Amino acid sequence: MTYPAYGVLRPVTASASVLLAENPSVMTLEGTNTWVLRGADSTGCVVIDPGPDDETHLRRVRACGPVEEILLTHGHPDHADGARRFAELAGGVGVRALDPALRLGSEGLAGGDVVAAAGLEIRVLATPGHTADSLCFLVDDAVLTGDTVLGRGTTVVAHPDGRLADYLDSLRRLAELPPDTTVLPGHGPELPDAAAAATAYLAHREQRLDQVRAALDQLGRDASPRQVVEAVYADVDRALWPAAEWSVRAQLEYLLG
Ligand SMILES: [Zn+2]
Repeated sequence: MTYPAYGVLRPVTASASVLLAENPSVMTLEGTNTWVLRGADSTGCVVIDPGPDDETHLRRVRACGPVEEILLTHGHPDHADGARRFAELAGGVGVRALDPALRLGSEGLAGGDVVAAAGLEIRVLATPGHTADSLCFLVDDAVLTGDTVLGRGTTVVAHPDGRLADYLDSLRRLAELPPDTTVLPGHGPELPDAAAAATAYLAHREQRLDQVRAALDQLGRDASPRQVVEAVYADVDRALWPAAEWSVRAQLEYLLG
């Protein structure tokens, strides 16, 4: 099967399959990955990130079977906008997220929680940084990373909600996962080793920080974020510069306080 394939549920691990939403863009890569988790003997499933409010996509996800839980990795609209409608389609299942504003029903979700559903135990990791409300979910030998680690390229630290110090901390914790933990990301293809991916992200962040320090040495400490973007992200597609500016603001806050 060629990647991406819209509208086709693609099994990735023994318990996780992905349905790709048709919302491609420079920020979302081929689109948002909606993950459907199901244990071997379960008819029901757990849905991670229903995705954008796209009726066709949501109905495809709904067709995967009875929905026991709906969990959100974070509140960005490409992951969460469809959650309310999806919950309706699923017959009134709640929506669980760290941010109370995103929840539907009474049950919350936070780091340290274990969600037992669809024949699985899903462990919740608090991984702030991309956003303050970012969570990862461990299931069997895989970790669902939302936008904390992507299948390709790197992610943004969505300043001021996302903070770089938190993000580096979250990456360090992901770097301690057992080897061969599969990354099931919010965008892009799965990756074979979460610890390796997180370690590479850390190295990339350190490199960017060094570049920002060098730019500040040249431009002065009161350089604007835009000036720093032009100096540091010259190698990056200009369509990504607005997003790069969020990350630069996060880096400036980290370096200058
Ligand atoms: Zn996001």
